[in-house]
Amino acid sequence: MNDMQDCLFCKIVRKEIPAAIVFENETVVAFLDIKPVNPGHVLIVPRAHSADYVTTEDSIVCEIAVTAKRIGQAIIQSLWAPGFNLGVNNGRVAGQLVDHVHLHVMPRFENDGRELWHGKPYAEGEMEGVAKKLRAALS
Ligand code: AMP
Ligand code: ZN
Repeated sequence: MNDMQDCLFCKIVRKEIPAAIVFENETVVAFLDIKPVNPGHVLIVPRAHSADYVTTEDSIVCEIAVTAKRIGQAIIQSLWAPGFNLGVNNGRVAGQLVDHVHLHVMPRFENDGRELWHGKPYAEGEMEGVAKKLRAALS
């Protein structure tokens, strides 16, 4: 209960603090991030408080994903962005600062300087071990 009372994004959902809301329905609210990667950067949050992605109900995750598709289309049409990135930071180590699950929809423009991180190859034999652990957890 306290979580919800103090939560920044719950306050935005309840319209207790201002936000540039661009879309809302009975399940989700979408508003502009105050510190955008590019103008038009949107955060999609469920109305119901949920701390992070993995603890969010499946039906709500689906609604967030479908909304991202709609907002992505609007970004392309109205802001003339040729593309966008979707992102969820799950956990502090991944950069999650607000503990109310949210999906970032980030417009991308040619030469906008917003580089993605670079991958690094597996060490010899490492890949199969990792796949084995994940398969076991997923079976
Ligand atoms: P994350 O690091 O994934 O938890 O992202 C939190 C995001 O919330 C950041 O990109 C912030 O810029 C954004 N943010 C923080 N406060 C507000 C606010 N009052 N209105 C809109 N976006 C916010
Ligand atoms: Zn909340």
